[in-house]
Amino acid sequence: MDFTITPEIEDYRQRIAQFVARELLPLEADRANYDAHENIKVDVLNQMRARAKAEGLWCLQLQKETGGQGLGKVGMAVCYEEMNRSIFGPVVFNSAAPDDGNMQVLEKVGTDKQKAEWLQPIVRGHVRSAFVMTEPAPGSGSDPAGMMLTTAKKQGDSYVVRGRKWFITGAEDSDHFILIARTSDDPRKGLSAFLHRKDTPGFRIERRIPIMGPEEHGGHCEVVYEDMVIPAENLLMNEGDGLKLTQIRLGPARLTHCMRWLGLSKRCVEIASEYAQNRFAFGERLSQRESVQMMIGDLAMQIEIGRLLVMKAAWELDRGGFARKEVSMAKVHVANLLHKAADTAIQINGARGYSKDTPLEWIYRYARQARLVDGADEVHKMVLHRNVEKEGRDFWKWDAGA
Ligand SMILES: Cc1cc2nc3c(=O)[nH]c(=O)nc-3n(C[C@H](O)[C@H](O)[C@H](O)COP(=O)(O)OP(=O)(O)OC[C@H]3O[C@@H](n4cnc5c(N)ncnc54)[C@H](O)[C@@H]3O)c2cc1C
Repeated sequence: MDFTITPEIEDYRQRIAQFVARELLPLEADRANYDAHENIKVDVLNQMRARAKAEGLWCLQLQKETGGQGLGKVGMAVCYEEMNRSIFGPVVFNSAAPDDGNMQVLEKVGTDKQKAEWLQPIVRGHVRSAFVMTEPAPGSGSDPAGMMLTTAKKQGDSYVVRGRKWFITGAEDSDHFILIARTSDDPRKGLSAFLHRKDTPGFRIERRIPIMGPEEHGGHCEVVYEDMVIPAENLLMNEGDGLKLTQIRLGPARLTHCMRWLGLSKRCVEIASEYAQNRFAFGERLSQRESVQMMIGDLAMQIEIGRLLVMKAAWELDRGGFARKEVSMAKVHVANLLHKAADTAIQINGARGYSKDTPLEWIYRYARQARLVDGADEVHKMVLHRNVEKEGRDFWKWDAGA
């Protein structure tokens, strides 16, 4: 086992770290740079995106021929963590959800024509994209294969879509949509994936759902399909491959969430440590108190456990595996870690932690979604249990290689 990173990855890491420290942390500290939904203002974002592009720090997740940097998942794990030291980081480098996962899946499964038409505008930063799967009850949430109610019925060379979806991140500002809808009752091959634009007749955004945390650009929307017609050439993969496409998209997308969340968790420790070193109470620095040392030491350890889980999954994906178990374990651990890191850092910062003078309260509110999005903790643990039942003691087997 070799945990050394290549000089190329280290070079990207250093340049991203410098960009974040030089450009983004000062912006993040000034409320004037925030939009009404507590994200980076679009005009400021566009300036920063132009700089990130000019410095060759754009779309690390994509192949060079697609317009990216070709870093692979291990390289991304190193760099995403670094970029999310700032809450503004991922969107500046075009590595924020949901564009990040949408670009990766389009690069992997799109035809050349689909890549030119649907992927390239996102890569260039000209449009945003959304992934449309979840439905309000009684439709599909944790169980898309079993419960999806939105239908796409074949009529000649087209499909006619009817249904309602919600929590669609970025929908209000997106132009390209990847929609998952039911095309048959087959339990494995019943769903299909489609591409459509925002202005397609029959599609509308019903509302931007108010949420407890800060919002991605375009919010989280409830959307309605009323006999929207999609040409068959806008099928992604083949009819019946919707569940497969979802799995191809969500594995890496869940892992990149973890990579970013590790960066945010480290930032929480950074702010907590700095305060503990400089704040006195009862004649001592807070950092001299064993109880405070235990809190920060424990977080540091939990972050390292998260990094090892993420790196193992990244390594497995880079060598062509699916890393399903590894991604599930990383997702559950890091989602809970992020919540704990923000909570602990607020506690150590006292009243300051509860204020908007640091990003801790932002991270705390944001963190609560981590245990729900892309599979709730309980669903991932259910999947892990299935694996334990199936594999027994082999669940933990080492790959002995050739
Ligand atoms: C901020 C945010 C952004 C999102 N963005 C998108 C998006 O862009 N596109 C999209 O399609 N969706 C999106 N979602 C939806 C997200 O993927 C779903 O919330 C998630 O899949 C869970 O579905 P659900 O909310 O319907 O929960 P439900 O299926 O209603 O489950 C509710 C709860 O039941 C429990 N539960 C469920 N299954 C089990 C089980 N097997 N065993 C034990 N307990 C269980 C869990 O605690 C779960 O939290 C987003 C959600 C949020 C909060």
